[in-house]
Amino acid sequence: MEKMIISAALTGAWPTKQHNPNIPMTPEEIAEDAYRCWNAGASVVHLHMRDEYGAGTMDKERFSQTTSLIREKCNLILNLTTSGELGASDERRYEHLIEIKPELASYDCGSMNWMHIGVFLNTPQFLEKLGQVMIENDIKPEIECFDTGMVYNALYYIQKGYILKPPYFQLCLGAPGGTVAEIENLVFMKNLLPKNAKWSAFGIGSTHMPILYTTIALGGHVRVGMEDNIYYSKGVLAESNAQLVERAARAGREFGREIATPNEARKILGLEQKETNGVI
Ligand code: ZN
Repeated sequence: MEKMIISAALTGAWPTKQHNPNIPMTPEEIAEDAYRCWNAGASVVHLHMRDEYGAGTMDKERFSQTTSLIREKCNLILNLTTSGELGASDERRYEHLIEIKPELASYDCGSMNWMHIGVFLNTPQFLEKLGQVMIENDIKPEIECFDTGMVYNALYYIQKGYILKPPYFQLCLGAPGGTVAEIENLVFMKNLLPKNAKWSAFGIGSTHMPILYTTIALGGHVRVGMEDNIYYSKGVLAESNAQLVERAARAGREFGREIATPNEARKILGLEQKETNGVI
């Protein structure tokens, strides 16, 4: 089996220090947390920013400050969200990509009712424009799919040339409004992917562990972190994102999967031209 890429989703757009005091919120906290995750075995960090009140923001200055701090410390692959602020304009959702040029960025392949409180809007026009921006800036889309319809939608954008091959999917299970995080659903969604696709998966909240273990066994890559899960186990808050990375690395090794370094992850994902030496 392929070496296993561990992505760490550090902050997300909603949990705060009231939910878990160990969630990194400021650029300095996020960069330090990313570095700790790198030391624990993560090769990718998925980043969201927060404003001074703790709300999700697409402020490109914050992204820029944070990514500069991370790039000073280590050679993690940066994966920036394009969905980190309620009501943000289409342009605001991708302008940070043009400035920072991360290797990966999220591409949410459809709209859905989000958490029973609002609409997570990803219009056809936005997905076409975002695809163009990513191609022009040499950024690989991480195709986030919260249900099977989004997988089929991704196949359309691949066929139309908005997503270059080989595609990289993130199967996101257990979001209220999306596909329930059950092992059968993960297997079903994984089997819909193109043969040349690379893929990763995670389950939100209490579904984290069954999806983590199933993904390891199926040969996929894994995502962990407090964006998706603020607990380490039932009723026990995670001490850090690195703690969740350490567990995923341990589980992978126990199973027989070696853990990919950032440069090995670059090869797996087709980002070789951006290989770097250790700390940059
Ligand atoms: Zn995210």
